Amino acid sequence: MNSLSSFDSLPLSPPLLENLSGLGYHEPTPIQAAALPLILEGKDVLGQAKTGSGKTAAFGLGLLQGLNPDVLETQALVICPVRELAEQVAAEIRRLARNIPNIKLVTLCGGMPGRPQEVSMRAGAHIVVGTPGRIAKHIRKELLQVSAVRTLVLDEADRLLDMGFAEEVMEIVKALPRNRQTLLFSATFPEEIRTLSRKLQKNPESVIVDTTLAPGIVEEREVYSKAQDKLRTLSRILRQEMPESALVFCATRQGCRDVAGALNTEGFSVATLHGEMEQRDRTDALIRLANRSVCILVATDVAARGLDIEDLPLVIHFDPANDPEIHLHRTGRTGRAGRKGRAYALVERRAPGVLSPEDLKPRPGSPPQPAMVSFLMNGGKKDKIRPGDIVGAMVNEAGLNAEDLGKIHVSDTYTVIAFRNGVQRKVQKWAAAGRIKGKRLSPMTGPSLF
Ligand code: AMP
Repeated sequence: MNSLSSFDSLPLSPPLLENLSGLGYHEPTPIQAAALPLILEGKDVLGQAKTGSGKTAAFGLGLLQGLNPDVLETQALVICPVRELAEQVAAEIRRLARNIPNIKLVTLCGGMPGRPQEVSMRAGAHIVVGTPGRIAKHIRKELLQVSAVRTLVLDEADRLLDMGFAEEVMEIVKALPRNRQTLLFSATFPEEIRTLSRKLQKNPESVIVDTTLAPGIVEEREVYSKAQDKLRTLSRILRQEMPESALVFCATRQGCRDVAGALNTEGFSVATLHGEMEQRDRTDALIRLANRSVCILVATDVAARGLDIEDLPLVIHFDPANDPEIHLHRTGRTGRAGRKGRAYALVERRAPGVLSPEDLKPRPGSPPQPAMVSFLMNGGKKDKIRPGDIVGAMVNEAGLNAEDLGKIHVSDTYTVIAFRNGVQRKVQKWAAAGRIKGKRLSPMTGPSLF
């Protein structure tokens, strides 16, 4: 395997290279070290890597390096199984491209209103990232022209097939030029993936990064718990760890609600994420975990892939995953990109090495409270709101310091702003009369649990 130890020796353009050091990407991750040189040579690559390995930057840098910004045609197409992953991939590509002016990236995802996507597509895009059904629909309606696509990426290809997207993927591929580069990433390599690769790729190079070797370090523990004691055991784990943020995985939506309800009653800061929730509530739950205004997210596996959460210190398998790959994927939410993480699994069997609940050492005191609080503004990109407007108003008018502000998440129609827990009174006082581009600010109501 290639032993590339820095990005500098790669044929990447100066704006891309400079931006990498700005992003703090000083060394390539193993998948980048192995795959990027091949991708930049124009080869088809069949890569085995999990989310958290840095694979997005591996293909993202490849497609950006090959892009001609002066031609507003769709030159790269990235297909993802679920919207959350597509959005995470789009965000990472935008970060990687921020030194290249005028790159247009559009996301085309199912479950989102079609009109704004159509409007964006009419304006043109260099890069399209999305889910298969919606991409195929745009091609069918001739809203997406794909004759200039030179790079096709299939991300989490195993999941694309598991979710039954083979037909849509083939429909999309049929519309693409034959002379293209095809990059296929998958966490697992069942026969179906090899067959798909044979259909889509030309002499692909396989790149396998040992999936058991996470790029960060995860310490994983099992705790014995009888079924009826699981909530109590969970509480002991959380009270031992006192995490500022954590993900708890449950098997079912009802399980999510029950666990979240119980933790809420105990005074933990908690939100849920499962498939039955409205998209807006799912997005808000993720925003609040990422901006640290909620500490614990209780989620089903539906929501597990594609979460882009940095330095999450703790993952708890409240219910076991029914598949080892899913287990790995859940645990992969922690210890990402070189950071340390810890995972606990509640198990119903005693065995050597399995802790008993009495081995846990709950700390006294009340559960940790979020470092930040979220405010909501009913105005977003469509109203030309930019983070700078908000920082400006808060510092110049509300009397806050820039450090009192956390993440600002501007979506199309609304904005979520995180403030340091403690300054909310100042913000509310300002908000009684203050406006940003005519829009009001109000505290975001409590995380939705049900
Ligand atoms: P991914 O597997 O693409 O979801 O990436 C996991 C995380 O690693 C993302 O948050 C990236 O921003 C980060 N990352 C990717 N490449 C590097 C790198 N070379 N150095 C440090 N962080 C990275």
